[in-house]
Amino acid sequence: MTTHYDYLAIGGGSGGLATAQRAAEYGARVAVIEPHRLGGTCVNVGCVPKKLMWTAASLAHAMEDAAGYGFQVVHPTHDWQTLKTARDAYVGKLNGIYENNLAKKGIDWIKGRARFVDAHTVQVGDKRVTASHIVIATGGQPIKPEISGAQWGITSDGFFDLTQVPRRAAVVGSGYIAVELAGVLASLGSQVSLFVRQDRILRQFDAMLSTGLMREMAAAGIEVVTHAVPAAVELSADVRTLVLADGRRYPGIDTVLWAIGRQPMTEDLSLPNAGIDVSAAGFIETDRFQNTQTPSVYAIGDVTGREALTPVAIAAGRRLADRLFNHQVDRALDYALIPTVVFSHPPIGTIGLTEAQARHSFGDSVKTYGASFVPMYHALTERKSRVEMKLVCQGPDEVIVGLHIVGQGADEMLQGFAVAVKMGATKRDFDDTLAIHPTIAEEFVTMR
Ligand SMILES: Cc1cc2nc3c(=O)[nH]c(=O)nc-3n(C[C@H](O)[C@H](O)[C@H](O)COP(=O)(O)OP(=O)(O)OC[C@H]3O[C@@H](n4cnc5c(N)ncnc54)[C@H](O)[C@@H]3O)c2cc1C
Repeated sequence: MTTHYDYLAIGGGSGGLATAQRAAEYGARVAVIEPHRLGGTCVNVGCVPKKLMWTAASLAHAMEDAAGYGFQVVHPTHDWQTLKTARDAYVGKLNGIYENNLAKKGIDWIKGRARFVDAHTVQVGDKRVTASHIVIATGGQPIKPEISGAQWGITSDGFFDLTQVPRRAAVVGSGYIAVELAGVLASLGSQVSLFVRQDRILRQFDAMLSTGLMREMAAAGIEVVTHAVPAAVELSADVRTLVLADGRRYPGIDTVLWAIGRQPMTEDLSLPNAGIDVSAAGFIETDRFQNTQTPSVYAIGDVTGREALTPVAIAAGRRLADRLFNHQVDRALDYALIPTVVFSHPPIGTIGLTEAQARHSFGDSVKTYGASFVPMYHALTERKSRVEMKLVCQGPDEVIVGLHIVGQGADEMLQGFAVAVKMGATKRDFDDTLAIHPTIAEEFVTMR
């Protein structure tokens, strides 16, 4: 027998769950199709376990710093397995909460992989389901390079399976996942080398951020190997050698971690049956309303190739449900000015245009303000870590079109400033806001 729904979400990750729940709140009959644990990448192998690892790494730094404040610091030992057990239990609890939430809202969870039969019908195992509206929220998965021995390395998914800290780790990649995981590993005791394809990490961010973080990583003992194109991984007696295309060899590695990108999960969806094409990279393109080429089929989140962030998937999903089931006909996500944080050590916060992008778009009408200093926290610590901040302003009113920070507290600082930037704040608005002293954040309202 075929069951009919008003709304079907394919994928029970950030986007699928958010849109399903919002639609159910409006009274729609909804099902979520998900073969694995609920919560998707973010909850199971992304933001959540990553942030817990980041917190553990931050505590390692804090313990080191405590000596400067008069604490007798006995050299702390760390047990990775204890952390992993507690982390996995927390994630398991979240999986349960998501399942309860679906039940409370009367949403069916169909366990299995979906593939399209036609634009209103999907097959999940031996079950056939139809729906008036179907949203594809299947996210993405990490990739490995197509080189000899790539299988001797793990991806970010495998990182969360590690049962002990690697003695010597090679992290390959220059994006935010690479720098975040390299930072965690180094802080918790690994000897880490980070292999980047070109000359710097986080190339899409303002140059101040990548330069600042590379300096801090070097100070933390992370070796950043530039112009590194992996050619092979050799394995001998469970020890790996990373070989680069130019012949450089890095022996003695016990964990190679590929963080070179992610690919959308579109292959097994039988999309042509629903009349949907994918881009060359496999993404499903949508208009600003998340519509695909086929009326009644939509796509949200990482599978669309837009900013791959949990709040983006959630916001797009909720707005889509508002539009489809609550008559909010113009409701759509504004993809401009998305704030983002890199949970590196120290963290990065960034919103808007880089200085280079602003100069490219607005030429000489761009003015920047900056600050670079060692924060008071480090006045008494042996370890010193700088803060770099930048405001990118444009036009005679000096509208703030970019705001960037690398340094302690950037992660929590950015959200409030993002509201101001999104509202079109000018440098004058910042100047007219009284400082909170003594903080790092006050520098943003006292720059000259
Ligand atoms: C290591 C790491 C750290 C991250 N850290 C952050 C962070 O700090 N902040 C942040 O905002 N973002 C972070 N992200 C990104 C974030 O996890 C994603 O942007 C977010 O999960 C995307 O949500 P989604 O709903 O599009 O897809 P997902 O959450 O990936 O969910 C997709 C779901 O679809 C399911 N699925 C796939 N194919 C099918 C099918 N055929 N049938 C049924 N179900 C299917 C999958 O099993 C999966 O559960 C991180 C990602 C990683 C990998």
